[in-house]
Amino acid sequence: MYHRFGEIKYPSTNITAEQLRSHLEYLRDEEYKFIQVKDLLFPENTKSKTISITVDDAYLSFYEVGLPIFENYNIPVTLFLNTENVGGDNYMNWDQLRDVLNRGVDIQNHTHTHSSLPKLSEEKIKEEIEKSQKIINKNLNISPNLFAYPFGEASAKVQNIVAQYFDAAFGQHSGAFSIDQRYYIPRFPLNENYSSIERIRDASKALPFENIFLSPKDAYLNPSSKRFVLEVPGGTKGINCYIRDFQGSFEKKITNLQNKLLIELNRLPVSGRLRFNCTKIESEIYWFGYQYLIN
Ligand SMILES: [Zn+2]
Repeated sequence: MYHRFGEIKYPSTNITAEQLRSHLEYLRDEEYKFIQVKDLLFPENTKSKTISITVDDAYLSFYEVGLPIFENYNIPVTLFLNTENVGGDNYMNWDQLRDVLNRGVDIQNHTHTHSSLPKLSEEKIKEEIEKSQKIINKNLNISPNLFAYPFGEASAKVQNIVAQYFDAAFGQHSGAFSIDQRYYIPRFPLNENYSSIERIRDASKALPFENIFLSPKDAYLNPSSKRFVLEVPGGTKGINCYIRDFQGSFEKKITNLQNKLLIELNRLPVSGRLRFNCTKIESEIYWFGYQYLIN
């Protein structure tokens, strides 16, 4: 997942042109196959080394800097579009969006106002979806079937509503693609702060755990909690979890039961995003990520 290109004022969402080229060159040299995100939903397409690239928010820098580089490497891109900003300062306009569509970019839904959804009413969430679908349909003559949550923030309620409109939905927590998480699919954020070749290497090699499950399941945690359970049917041996919120990473007590880790944090997570990254590194890298929003 990328956002901005060559906009060095925003290191947490930006990638420089040189960094992007180094990523794409690495992946090309490793002989990955690139497909559109919509094609990931079919299991026969994900059996070999496969990557999908997504770009969120439709910043002008994607049009001016990012897309020409992707085109240079002949790599397909999916753009998640929030419709209210179209034509605004530093955002693409409809002519440019029609142009990228004609050049093979797949355009999907990222709401109208780019609001965090878990705190909105059901009515407001539906309005965000229906309004943006209508605007995209009117201006681009397409009907998106995929969705990305603004800020990667979801909840059980939000996911249920999104499922009424879309075939799958994406967060912005790290992790290997797995269709088991159809309405909260992870993506590896790539930006100036996380842009090293090691990051690309680990992200591209990451495989999903089978049937892994973190509870509480609802990604909107209200009230906050110190206790979590990670179920891993394949066994918990060798799994390490790195957990952090806006105050930093947690010390934690872990109790190992059969195929389960009981995780107790040393402090209550603060309001905002709480991220889990659980990995197992053997001959392969297995990577499970999850993002909670704490009220
Ligand atoms: Zn966004």
